[in-house]
Amino acid sequence: MIRSEETICAPATAIGGAIAVIRISGQQSLSICDKIFYPLDNVIKLVNQKGFTVVYGEIRSGVEIIDDVLLSIFRAPHSYTGENSVEISCHASPYIIRKILELLIINGAGTAKPGEFTQRAFFNGKMDLSQAEAVADIIASKTSRSHSVALNQMRGGFSAEISSLRFELLNFASLIELELDFGEEEVEFADRNELEAIIRRVKELADKLAASFMLGNALKNGIPVAIVGKPNSGKSTLLNALLMEERAIVSEFPGTTRDTIEDTIVIDGIEYRFIDTAGLRDTSDIIEAMGIKKTHEKIYQASVILLIDEITEPADSINKRADSIRDMIIGSEKRLVILVNKTDTISDNRQTELENMIKLEEKDTLLFISAREKSGLDELRSRLSDVVIKERLSSDDVIITNIRHYEALLHVSESLGRVISGLEEHISEDLIAIDIRHAIHYLGEITGEITSDEILGNIFRNFCIGK
Ligand code: GDP
Repeated sequence: MIRSEETICAPATAIGGAIAVIRISGQQSLSICDKIFYPLDNVIKLVNQKGFTVVYGEIRSGVEIIDDVLLSIFRAPHSYTGENSVEISCHASPYIIRKILELLIINGAGTAKPGEFTQRAFFNGKMDLSQAEAVADIIASKTSRSHSVALNQMRGGFSAEISSLRFELLNFASLIELELDFGEEEVEFADRNELEAIIRRVKELADKLAASFMLGNALKNGIPVAIVGKPNSGKSTLLNALLMEERAIVSEFPGTTRDTIEDTIVIDGIEYRFIDTAGLRDTSDIIEAMGIKKTHEKIYQASVILLIDEITEPADSINKRADSIRDMIIGSEKRLVILVNKTDTISDNRQTELENMIKLEEKDTLLFISAREKSGLDELRSRLSDVVIKERLSSDDVIITNIRHYEALLHVSESLGRVISGLEEHISEDLIAIDIRHAIHYLGEITGEITSDEILGNIFRNFCIGK
């Protein structure tokens, strides 16, 4: 699968902008570039050039000058991939980029597959698998939280700890297998107390990391929010008010206005995605037409449910509606926020009255707003992040965001759970050894100490070309 002898090239920057970078990696990087690059002073040979230097000159195709470029030189093993590498910074014309790539290929380079640079970095020991996966996450990160989680993982996050625990488990597994080799003789090389202690430690870590996945996934992919309520309660007015203010924030930065604004808002570095807002946009009739089934689906997909009701509504009906949502989300981590809307239309007394009459359960939140007058929206925003993230995250908290890691951790925990009960019940060593081996296998899958072409293929396929 890996074509490590080949030198590969690909554009590393997206279309648009003034400058583009073309990446070349592999043993022949420097000699291939020497064939098409003419340095300003005519003496420099790239093959003799030191790493971490930049050379200025021209790329030519025969006598045709293609572009003035800067070449950044990296020498193995001190490069992203661990191989000799060159990054050509040229002008970002599609013609220039295509021409330079063509010249590189004519002179012996191959085209890089998606993620192949990072795959090489993994094979050359520059990073482990979970770090390689974090590279994709960091490029995709849109908010400060998803960025910091990905950065933490890319820097090594939990993988060093997993690696060392796996190593300890491996030692014990070998000792137990040695005991088995002795067959009938009653020997015990692996101290059972020590063994149990380490198994418990690994299981605890696996459980802790697995438990962080919900939050990690929310930080990475955004938190799904459903707005539900009777027709005319003000759902679309609320959505528009929240999105308008978001847009105002976004468009403060010139050039950052997104072409198609998604129905998302970012609060405190976390993205909230409003689900299925098409109906809200059009007419209230559609909401009615969508009916109960659609509402159920929405609630099923959401982590936070905003139930919106009018302040003139009797407390009983509000309680009834809230109850029916609670029935749907019972036993889940989903949160209910009851929004009493149109506070501008009625006196403060009514608010106090309702405050006393609306029943709340432990995790519910009640807020009074006026979507039209945009009052109470700041409170709503700040409560949203409280609702989702009860304890503030500290920046060094290790969080799992990757479903592959999550599944592997569940397997680890399951196997070690069996080892612990096996030890307690004094079941035979060979069964214990099998479960320990399973746990070792799954821990190794996270860091990449155990890989298969299938796993690698799946991971790197999702990378972009040039990464
Ligand atoms: P939806 O059917 O739930 O999406 O409700 P809409 O957002 O379309 O609102 C229904 C009507 O209520 C519209 O005429 C809105 O202008 C009005 N409305 C929404 N929010 C408020 C509010 O906070 N105060 C007042 N006075 N009217 C509101």
